[in-house]
Amino acid sequence: MKIIKGIPASGGIAAGPAYIFKPTEIGVKRETIQNPAAELSRLESARNVAREQLKALKLKTENEASADEAAIFDAHAMFLDDPSLLELVADTVNAEKVNVEAAWADGIENFARQMEMMGDEYLSARAADIRDVGKRVLRILSGQSETDLSGLNAPSVILAQDLTPSDTARLNKDFVLGFATAEGGPTSHTAILAKALGLPAVVGCGPALMEIKSGSEMLIHGGKGELIADPDEKTKQLYQKLTGEATRVAGVELEAAAEHAVTRDGRQVEIVANVGSPSDAVSALKYGAEGIGLLRTEFLYLERTTAPTEEEQLAAYNAVLDVMEKRPVVVRTLDVGGDKQLDYLDLGKEANPFLGWRAIRMCLDKPDFFKIQLRALLRASPNHDLRIMFPMIATLEEVRRSKALLAEARKEVLAAGHPVADNIQVGIMVEIPAAAQMADFFAREVDFFSIGTNDLTQYTMAAERTSEKMAYLADPCHPAVIRQIKRVIEEGHKQGIWVGVCGEMAGDPEAAPILLGLGLDEFSMAAPGIPHLKAILREWSYADAQKLAEHVLNLENGTAVREYVRGFTHA
Ligand code: PEP
Ligand code: MG
Repeated sequence: MKIIKGIPASGGIAAGPAYIFKPTEIGVKRETIQNPAAELSRLESARNVAREQLKALKLKTENEASADEAAIFDAHAMFLDDPSLLELVADTVNAEKVNVEAAWADGIENFARQMEMMGDEYLSARAADIRDVGKRVLRILSGQSETDLSGLNAPSVILAQDLTPSDTARLNKDFVLGFATAEGGPTSHTAILAKALGLPAVVGCGPALMEIKSGSEMLIHGGKGELIADPDEKTKQLYQKLTGEATRVAGVELEAAAEHAVTRDGRQVEIVANVGSPSDAVSALKYGAEGIGLLRTEFLYLERTTAPTEEEQLAAYNAVLDVMEKRPVVVRTLDVGGDKQLDYLDLGKEANPFLGWRAIRMCLDKPDFFKIQLRALLRASPNHDLRIMFPMIATLEEVRRSKALLAEARKEVLAAGHPVADNIQVGIMVEIPAAAQMADFFAREVDFFSIGTNDLTQYTMAAERTSEKMAYLADPCHPAVIRQIKRVIEEGHKQGIWVGVCGEMAGDPEAAPILLGLGLDEFSMAAPGIPHLKAILREWSYADAQKLAEHVLNLENGTAVREYVRGFTHA
């Protein structure tokens, strides 16, 4: 029996044989050619085939995961047609009289390296995408089929060094019981996909993972970040019980998902979903979401070459609001910068992009650009409960200026003859410690607070959230974070406004009872986790949760807090 510890990426338990996923290496031979035009026309045909493959992968991913996940293949298609890459390849073929495989491989590597050298996490991820597209074309040119997945014909636990979006899209999800990768952090592509599919995943397992033999019996515990190869009889039985029980419980929880989350002593809290695209909204309802607590609007802006128009945005907001009918929908205005770059905005290179010109800071500097989004939102508002939320607010002036721009946008929309709903709630994300500290002032300016614990933790602990090495600091259960949340909720309530959490913490079964005890009104989270979270909150009484919250505020660190929650005995 071999136990491997990794980073928990997506909860759940599964058991099954190991399927080792190793993309085949494509060898490229450099050859001298006579007819450059013929070579380039081979490339053109290969690119046409690749484009069709990417279209099919996009469609498949849209159906199986989400539009958000699928958008990556648009980016791949863009690289495929990148004019400077094509020019570089044509120049090499013409000038050096080499075969197009060699010229293409060089060109791709050149491009990927340039991206990596920018020293930016987001661009490094794009380098992996460029290599992924590059290999696709080389495979087509050499007549090789895609990575052989024919071995995956029975439900298996997928083990891989790392998984690219193309790899995961081609896996037959009916046969995937869970994922484990040697590389990757908790926000890696594998982690996000696994969460969206509701499958267990462990990432960052290290080199020991790839020593496991294909077909070995595997147990995977996503929540614990644990993987067991060739388990002994006792462990197997334990997992069998756990898996059987988990499946049974998940079924029961899903049945009760449409009901409210009410504690044993009658306190009801609102459970809503974080969504990243209109298609996510449909599945959110199936999991019992009572509305949307965070619509991340970046999906409208990313992976394209020009900014979305007012009409395009309006159509997207309408699509989400139509699904949600009268339920509350909190739309967050654009939050780019940090690890999300937009080529067409020329955000510039910064030494510390997470501390830089991003989100509301950039939007306030570009009022005409910002008002396009605000007008689209206002036009979408009639007959719905649309709420508008500003991200990354640090100062009162930022809120006041954002509200002033919203008022201007309203005048413009009305002047153009479009109706706008009255009483649209306007709120802010509290995700910068300065805003948490000044919550008493902010509470007089807005209708609600939504605490972004992902960023609040990152900025409180000074630990970049995308870094695998900083994972030990990235715990929202650290009392340094919890104390700020307590303050924000109290100050919000003093002014009679509601307070939610839309960071990952809200859906964390260990952290949520603390938030309940602190008096949180709204929990916004990844939809597949909603049935389980509702079940957990129903087991608590508000009185117990209050005692729990009071106690953990005075513990030393996040580990102590989590241990205390796990060991808490209910009255
Ligand atoms: C957060 O920071 O907690 C949050 C919900 O926003 P995002 O994860 O999009 O930064
Ligand atoms: Mg944030």
